[in-house]
Amino acid sequence: MTSPVLPSIFVSHGSPTLPFEDVPARDFMAGLAGRLPRPAAILSVTAHWCTERPTAGTAAKPETIHDFYGFPDALYEMSYPSPGAPDVGRRAVALLNDAGITAGEDGRRGLDHGTWSPLTVIYPDADIPVAQLSVQPNADAAHHMAVGRALAPLRREGVLIIASGGAVHNLYEFRNGIHETPSWAAAFDNWLIDAVGRGDTEALMDWHARSPEPGRAHPADEHLMPLFVAYGAGGSRPGTTLHRSFTYGSLSMTAFAFS
Ligand code: ZN
Repeated sequence: MTSPVLPSIFVSHGSPTLPFEDVPARDFMAGLAGRLPRPAAILSVTAHWCTERPTAGTAAKPETIHDFYGFPDALYEMSYPSPGAPDVGRRAVALLNDAGITAGEDGRRGLDHGTWSPLTVIYPDADIPVAQLSVQPNADAAHHMAVGRALAPLRREGVLIIASGGAVHNLYEFRNGIHETPSWAAAFDNWLIDAVGRGDTEALMDWHARSPEPGRAHPADEHLMPLFVAYGAGGSRPGTTLHRSFTYGSLSMTAFAFS
């Protein structure tokens, strides 16, 4: 039996409170699984796991990590009890090493909210095995595209690559109760959607120089890096915008598919 080729997906996960929010991005995620073939496993590339080298989680029963401070108690009680996917983690490491990208595994790392916050909404039954992959905040977009390219075979092996970060992510500008999107945030989001839609690899690799207000949209790079992994895994071709909205004013919830 052959598995269908799965797309690679980029989601902006927004605030950890997403599973409790009545916002368009949550509705989008709640309907996403129905638009995809059911995967055998998920590889979650998460902006909340930053390492020097690409590292895959290989825990058989990954714990739920509550890696945030000052949120409501209910959020600290959340758990996402999916089985781990140690075989997928090891396969990812092998693919990366074969591509000349030194990668390692971590048998203890649990699932952080970059993974479980969206998955709680997308696959609420938590019955699909999940492995995580880290990002490298000190490496550039080209590195993350190469990581994605190396992982592309997983898409033919029943593995759904969900890269979870943020299209516009500046927590200094995070505002409760603000609903208007500031122009700098919309401008960056528009630029990104355009570059992804055209499959403009050069522009994306050079985003620091070519996008409007990159330093304000991303005071740090790590929330954009998962996008480049999804883009590379999709063959560096034009992506489809699955969703766009903003929460808390400037936090973009834009999502893409690459196939
Ligand atoms: Zn985040």
